Amino acid sequence: MILGKCPYCNGKVIAIKTTAHGKKVNLYTCENAKKEYDESESFVFTADSTCTFRVYSNVFLKWNKRSFSKYEMKKLLEEDQVIVRLHGRRGTSEYFKYVITDKEYGISILWDEEVSKKEEEEFLISS
Ligand SMILES: [Zn+2]
Repeated sequence: MILGKCPYCNGKVIAIKTTAHGKKVNLYTCENAKKEYDESESFVFTADSTCTFRVYSNVFLKWNKRSFSKYEMKKLLEEDQVIVRLHGRRGTSEYFKYVITDKEYGISILWDEEVSKKEEEEFLISS
């Protein structure tokens, strides 16, 4: 499934079903960013990879967001920025943050920027 254009090389970003630490996850990857196990069992970019854009759907697990969905990834590629709902410990308080693509990490949270109440409401209506 093609989700959009890579922000770094204009290649196609595709969704692939895979497993990470025994859990089923989606991998959103630029078609030019392929990884493989080398002879020392390290997971490295292939010699023909020209891009590094790869994001796993469980990227925000640490902030109690179980999955960054295909829909969210598609929106991020279209709009360069997307709002995500994160949760505090034990799933108590929820809060909203902007997320942007990141050349090194694939995706990153803008911790210093506040999402306005108006945008929170729009998010809740559309989700
Ligand atoms: Zn790319």
